[in-house]
Amino acid sequence: MKQKRVVVLGAGVTGLAAAYRLSKCPELDVHVIEKRGAVGGLCGSFKDGDFVLDYGPHKFYTLLDGIVDELKELMGDELMERDKAQSIYMHGRYYTYPLKMTEMLTRFPLSESLKILFSYGTQLLKNFVSNKDAVTYEEFIKERFGSGLYQSIFAPMAEKIYGDPSQLDRKLAEVRISSPGLLSVVKQLLFRSKIDKSIQAPKFHYPQMGYGRIPEKMKEVAESNGACFHLGAEVTRVEVENGKIAAVRFTSSAGEQQRLVCDELVYTIPIAQIGKLMPDYSPRLDSVCEKVRSRNVIIYYFLLKSDPILPSMWVFFPEQEFRFGRLSEMTKFSPSTTPEGHTALMVDFTCDPEDPVWKMSDQTLGDMLLSQLEPLNLFKADQVVKRFSKRFQSFYPVYNVGFQRHLNEIRELEDRFKNLYFIGRTGDFNYNNADQCMDMGFQAADHILGRRDGEWTGLRTERFDRYKIVD
Ligand SMILES: Cc1cc2nc3c(=O)[nH]c(=O)nc-3n(C[C@H](O)[C@H](O)[C@H](O)COP(=O)(O)OP(=O)(O)OC[C@H]3O[C@@H](n4cnc5c(N)ncnc54)[C@H](O)[C@@H]3O)c2cc1C
Repeated sequence: MKQKRVVVLGAGVTGLAAAYRLSKCPELDVHVIEKRGAVGGLCGSFKDGDFVLDYGPHKFYTLLDGIVDELKELMGDELMERDKAQSIYMHGRYYTYPLKMTEMLTRFPLSESLKILFSYGTQLLKNFVSNKDAVTYEEFIKERFGSGLYQSIFAPMAEKIYGDPSQLDRKLAEVRISSPGLLSVVKQLLFRSKIDKSIQAPKFHYPQMGYGRIPEKMKEVAESNGACFHLGAEVTRVEVENGKIAAVRFTSSAGEQQRLVCDELVYTIPIAQIGKLMPDYSPRLDSVCEKVRSRNVIIYYFLLKSDPILPSMWVFFPEQEFRFGRLSEMTKFSPSTTPEGHTALMVDFTCDPEDPVWKMSDQTLGDMLLSQLEPLNLFKADQVVKRFSKRFQSFYPVYNVGFQRHLNEIRELEDRFKNLYFIGRTGDFNYNNADQCMDMGFQAADHILGRRDGEWTGLRTERFDRYKIVD
């Protein structure tokens, strides 16, 4: 007999991790509602002819206890261990990434190397006399790396991915830049031969047939344990009754309006949607939700008749002449994902919803990217077998100065409704990676299963807000 119903909104890796663990408990009736026709969200893969394609480059790497063991148990022989190889393209050439001090000093134009060194020295002195706390992303990075390196790499990359760095909260840098500063990078290069695994991943895990096998496998297991998946179904309303979340309404793939009564609600869809899903809750909620902004992501695919073309798995492009921030290649992650004699190039970038590129047709966008890619001499136009894009709304949380106040106001709903859990990259508005999303899913499941002590919201400050992304 099922004693309790848990509804999970969203079948990205976060929702699936929660459903996967919850489904192991026979007393629970687990339902997952997902807007798209397939599971995985941004961690999914899809097929195009004989190509298996991810949504941009995805490596699985974690510093969290127990997550890799869980992954290995889930994936068995499908999981491979890969040596990581990443680069950065600047001044017309490729450099290994993170940049090596020696390369910066010997291969960068002399004027730029001197600027980086001089500004770093000046910054060290400034830090010595001033102990002003950095508020913005810009201040935080300059304080640690100096303005030279900030202007060459950090500012243009931030501009492309997150928006104006002078308006971004320092929290973004804390999450995204694992290195504590140039001095530690220099020390590492000079005195240590081994890579510091808390700063960068030397190896990572990857499933042979695409990253999306991780969420697919979680779905397979959860389904075989009795969890019910409503795919192609969009959540339209969250109902409240007697101080609890009582039910969820959604439009099924057949267009029918359905209602699911629930005892617990695991929320992994964009947090800012909650205002529209609870329209009668308070007029303020909707207006606060509007202030919590995200950026969209576009991945453009060039399927090519070619041998592999990039010098590494992915390459960052900070310079302004490239609209995109990164190129990556499926074949480099697993050769089994592309047919013999072919490769798949992925071009990924973010944009605000009002950015003209968001509305560009695939043809126009592809032509623009081709003209920017041309000087790189990676492939010729007649090698392109197919080209197209995949676009996702509201995926990159914008950590603008002041965002935390608005976010906290929305998160207060969890204090009010003890059966509501905001988790995941978009569900918690937490700029995190797949391993951390899985962790959040497992933690929410354990809380529902009564396997952990303490207040649910305590986990946020103790654990979720402390995640750091390791490149
Ligand atoms: C280009 C790129 C590269 C990345 N590289 C890495 C990497 O190397 N390693 C790593 O670990 N992570 C990486 N990430 C991050 C990783 O993709 C995310 O952390 C993860 O996908 C977030 O999962 P999620 O389940 O929280 O969110 P999502 O994947 O966004 O899942 C949310 C789900 O909710 C659904 N949904 C939304 N609204 C509704 C609605 N109203 N009703 C029903 N369903 C709805 C969506 O369709 C989606 O499936 C990368 C991301 C990108 C974009």
